[in-house]
Amino acid sequence: MKLDNSIILTFDVEDWFQVENLKKNISFSSWSERELRVEQNTLRLLDLLEGSPKAWGGDVCKRNEPLRATFFILGWVAERVPHLVREIVARGHEVASHGFYHNLCSEGSLQDLINDLSDSRKLLEDITGSPVHGYRAPSFSISPKVLSLIAECGYTYDSSYNSFAANTRYGRLELISNGCGIAVRVLPSFFELPVSNLEIAGHIIPMGGGGYFRLMPALLFKRAVKSILEKQGSYLFYMHPWEIDPQQPRVKNLPFSYRFRHYVNLDSAASKLVDFISSFGGCRFITCKDYIDMVAADTAQGPIR
Ligand SMILES: [Zn+2]
Repeated sequence: MKLDNSIILTFDVEDWFQVENLKKNISFSSWSERELRVEQNTLRLLDLLEGSPKAWGGDVCKRNEPLRATFFILGWVAERVPHLVREIVARGHEVASHGFYHNLCSEGSLQDLINDLSDSRKLLEDITGSPVHGYRAPSFSISPKVLSLIAECGYTYDSSYNSFAANTRYGRLELISNGCGIAVRVLPSFFELPVSNLEIAGHIIPMGGGGYFRLMPALLFKRAVKSILEKQGSYLFYMHPWEIDPQQPRVKNLPFSYRFRHYVNLDSAASKLVDFISSFGGCRFITCKDYIDMVAADTAQGPIR
């Protein structure tokens, strides 16, 4: 299948103070007083992905072909740094929505969620002048009902399902593979594109990225991705710009588990990402939308709009 050896890198563009694990310690009303670091961290990521040493002191990816990734951007961030959104597009990547205020989809009213889905999409479309096709729920808080609302709000795909059930915030979906690679065609013109994990003897091992990527030895992680690529053909990874920022302010009085998850190996995450990308030189790094377009072109129901 021509989807084989595709790696989809995704980045949830939010700042260090917007993370769910810190919510009890950092109120929403204080966000605007916090040090905004998302712009510099995202620019570092863009340089790193491009193999450009500009504004980036460490190693860079060495690739023969350009790499394209998907950036799920929080509306609150896009409102403050619209030029960053345009820069992401100018560098050849896809812009998608991570909602407006990082509220879990499992909390609040349905109308609030519909507003969040619509407003965040419209804002990004106004900034970029192009359609926005994809959505990722904060903390993967998806459900069948939320998935149908995302489709109703005009998105082409959702990428909010993470099958690792040990994190209780992650939502559940029953997805049945229907010949679309790692994507699942939920409606004729709407797809779910789940985060990749490794399944061994019925157990799900988290290999999609984030804190698990920072925690896991690089060699082990790369072996697991290789195994996923052999079994499933494609692999989807996620990460946040704050995960390559060891200088971010430290939040006091966090429970140990949250402190560990948020701060573990921040100083080595960027070089680990470079090493990871460089190790899969034979793979094609494409956006979620590119992947969905290939799936749609490949399957019987034809291309989507
Ligand atoms: Zn998020």
